[in-house]
Amino acid sequence: MKEPFLSAKPIIQKLEEQRFEAYFVGGSVRDYLLNRSIADVDIATSATPEEVKNIFSVTIDTGIEHGTILVIYKGKGYEVTTFRSESEYIDHRRPEKVRFIRSLTEDLKRRDFTMNAIAMNIHGEIIDPFHGRLALKNRVIECVGKANERFHEDALRMMRAIRFVSQLSFSLEHETKLAIKANAPLLQHIAVERILQECTKLFQGKNKKQALRFLYECDLWNYLPELKHHKDLFPCLQKWEIDHLSENQVWLLLLFLSKTNNPTSFLKSWRMPTKKINYLSKALFFLHKRLQEEWTVYSLYQATKEISIDVESVYQMIQKQSDENIEQKINEIFLSMPIQKREELKVTGTDLMTWFERPGGPWIKQALEMIEKAVVLKIVANEKKAIKGWILTCNLQQENDC
Ligand code: ATP
Ligand code: MG
Repeated sequence: MKEPFLSAKPIIQKLEEQRFEAYFVGGSVRDYLLNRSIADVDIATSATPEEVKNIFSVTIDTGIEHGTILVIYKGKGYEVTTFRSESEYIDHRRPEKVRFIRSLTEDLKRRDFTMNAIAMNIHGEIIDPFHGRLALKNRVIECVGKANERFHEDALRMMRAIRFVSQLSFSLEHETKLAIKANAPLLQHIAVERILQECTKLFQGKNKKQALRFLYECDLWNYLPELKHHKDLFPCLQKWEIDHLSENQVWLLLLFLSKTNNPTSFLKSWRMPTKKINYLSKALFFLHKRLQEEWTVYSLYQATKEISIDVESVYQMIQKQSDENIEQKINEIFLSMPIQKREELKVTGTDLMTWFERPGGPWIKQALEMIEKAVVLKIVANEKKAIKGWILTCNLQQENDC
């Protein structure tokens, strides 16, 4: 047994000492069997949440209504979830209330895919009643039980299936794929935030092109925010090799292909965080600019290093160019700049007010912008004295005069 299972082993041992059953389950066992790096271990147990809390001295009720207790052990948190069955599904979403049970097999049965329904005990022995290892061997995503019923119960599972295609480079088992197509409209019942979470993982995966193809072929595309209005966008998307793009770069490409002139509203429909909306909107602006003209040192600076890299990567893909060193080249240009962001300027608005003996006002912003540009373009050194000498000779109303 290897990490992170080793560190979590004492938790299972403690539960077993109290005559409860406990196993590693879910994504960690799947990723272990696939020899992939393992994120967090999940533990499933026959002990009820109250029983778990009585056994461990430090616990946090993270999801007690779903039977999950966070056990803190040696400074790390481990999710311990009581075996449960989810019998009543309302509105095609996972139930708010669950029933705690004492049988591992019943717990594994309510899980989404056979590859996610494998348990492992502390001796490394595998319990696999639904033949998840066979699915792993055949590299297929296959529902536990009847696919049609499982997607009908919880429509988010359809998005999970597709994101696993991207993350694991697996394909969809035949019946599973047909059932997604048949149940695609049920995605309307799922909160956009949860769909976004799955799309984020999809775009971070290695096999995005194929996963997006499934999204389209299975009709899920029709139920995604904004994209549902852009069916024509998919054939364009398939023209390019998008697998190497980062998550942000995929969003940027989607914005570009949608021809939207309101990226904020596009991304708001996805309930994206404001910071990310601002980042992507700015990136779209610079992508359009890049399609019109070459970068200058100052436009790179204005875009910021991260946005320049994202824009140039998408630009090169659209233009069917492939410079593998884009990131390195942009990094080098940024390293050679005297400053990389405004905060690094050696002067402030207060300095300007003292030098010009003028109260604050819009002129400060204008002056700082002029100084910033002059410093980036190495017209003046980023030193107080040099900047003072330079700016005092400028006509602040007309930048070009300077
Ligand atoms: P990841 O690597 O992204 O964490 P994961 O498979 O661990 O993938 P989680 O969302 O962490 O996904 O869920 C842990 C486990 O819970 C899954 O492996 C699966 O057994 C079960 N599970 C999660 N979501 C569902 C669902 N919607 N329906 C049924 N079972 C689910
Ligand atoms: Mg997980």
